[in-house]
Amino acid sequence: MTPLTWEALEPRLTALVDRPLDAAGVPQFLLDVDAIEREVWEAYAGLSRAKDEDTADEAAKAAYLAFVQSVLPRIEPVSDAINRKLLAVAGYTPPAALAPAWAAMRDQIDLYRDENVPLQVEEATLQQRYGEITGRTRVLLDGEALTIAAATAKLEESDRGLRERAYRAIDAGKEALRDDLDALFLEFARLRERVARNAGLPDYRAYQWRAMHRHEYAPEDALALHEAVAQELVPRLRERREARRRRMGLDTLRPWDLQADPEGRPPLKPFASVAELESGLVRMFHALDPELGADFATLLDGWMDLEPRANKVPNLGYQNYFPVSKRPYIYWSAVGTDADLLTMRHEAGHAFHSLATERAWPLVKHGAYRPEVNELAAQALELLTLPVLARDRGGFYDEADARRSQAMLLDRVFGLLVSICQVDAIQHWIYQQPAENLTVEGIDAAWNAILDRFDTGVDWSGLERARTKGWHVIHLFQFPFYYLEYGLAYLGALQVYERALRDPADALAGYRRMLALGGTRPLDELYAAAGIEFRFDRALVARLAELVSAKMAEDEGP
Ligand SMILES: [Zn+2]
Repeated sequence: MTPLTWEALEPRLTALVDRPLDAAGVPQFLLDVDAIEREVWEAYAGLSRAKDEDTADEAAKAAYLAFVQSVLPRIEPVSDAINRKLLAVAGYTPPAALAPAWAAMRDQIDLYRDENVPLQVEEATLQQRYGEITGRTRVLLDGEALTIAAATAKLEESDRGLRERAYRAIDAGKEALRDDLDALFLEFARLRERVARNAGLPDYRAYQWRAMHRHEYAPEDALALHEAVAQELVPRLRERREARRRRMGLDTLRPWDLQADPEGRPPLKPFASVAELESGLVRMFHALDPELGADFATLLDGWMDLEPRANKVPNLGYQNYFPVSKRPYIYWSAVGTDADLLTMRHEAGHAFHSLATERAWPLVKHGAYRPEVNELAAQALELLTLPVLARDRGGFYDEADARRSQAMLLDRVFGLLVSICQVDAIQHWIYQQPAENLTVEGIDAAWNAILDRFDTGVDWSGLERARTKGWHVIHLFQFPFYYLEYGLAYLGALQVYERALRDPADALAGYRRMLALGGTRPLDELYAAAGIEFRFDRALVARLAELVSAKMAEDEGP
């Protein structure tokens, strides 16, 4: 692959900026912009893939960094100029399918400042440092060095002593990094405040809200969701945890008791090799829908890296789309667990979304870029595949294990909705403080207050330090405010699930309609295409919490 250089891009981009443009010329202009956008995305996806597939490959890492540090920042001002040019064309109204993309360009233009480009490069450098710090994590369990993924898998074991040792080993590994991460985070917060101020906004929350194009809801709506979850969902989760404690015969539930099977059964083992996983997924998606099965089969042709190897990024899973090759790519390290199967269903949902959008629309600008709908595509598939998890219906498990896997997922969704609100709440708090007043002690105290508010009945005694540093979540460092979307999308995915329980074919058809719309409609219309509503008020949270509780009780039997 010849690397895409700035020298190669510059004359083409300059020609676009200089081209006289009137309304009649816009469609061709968009196609020419699209061709370059595709090449840039394809190059970026390829460089990411190369460095992630072999983290010891120094040349791959250098090529990736060169692109991120010296090509992408040079594209920024040109892309701003192109956006301005398009929005200034007299007498041109974009077709409805491009209206969301136009609104997003408007946000980019409004936020763009030349003086923020170097600050964004600085932020990328801090992000790189985050990767270096966390890359040093060492977990020593019973004298043996383990990856975090391998140690985390032990939390599912039936031997409670082993689980506790694994938890404490992971905690010791994290403890070694905590001071560095605390200091690094303050640097992030101060830098982000400068970015927001440069853009003329009062704080970074206001900046990021706009940068993420969140026009349909305000920060206050997110705060109302936190309250709805605290009132409607937390009590049910506490009840479930209390039932778990009783079934496990424990005095109190410790953090290492949450993932093990409450009946003491060994962890689920859906497959023994990556080859078995891949062929099983083709079979399972085919059973769900022959066209989705055919879409997934195209990935077998070298577009997945699922083998666990030493030089891969632990716990990293993603789908990336290659818009010149027109292929999705999935990265994960699968070791044979139920969590692997879940990750693959999630990433396959992203892949199906990419392919369905590509088939239906000519421009990358038509694609979905809003995580509220991208994550819906992925999470709804996690739930839509529940009926085909059993082997005799195309999947991986016997009937009893399929039920167990389903109960684990629903339990996980409950837990996630709570932790999403916690992680979102701390970010609201952090970015409402003037950065010069922000201290690590202040964040720690605010985080502990949030955990008290969302108390799910776990006994943290003697583990106060681990509890206090629970805000060291990758998103706060790498993807600020990108967390709420997982919660909004799960409230959508659970509505898809609710429909599927009544009429599976209808729910699947709605899901596929939504996939094929990409990003060509506002969020509420994309959700409506799937037959659901984009809302996250207390009444909806209560209804879905009731549905999930009833379903879990049914799966577990008397
Ligand atoms: Zn996702």
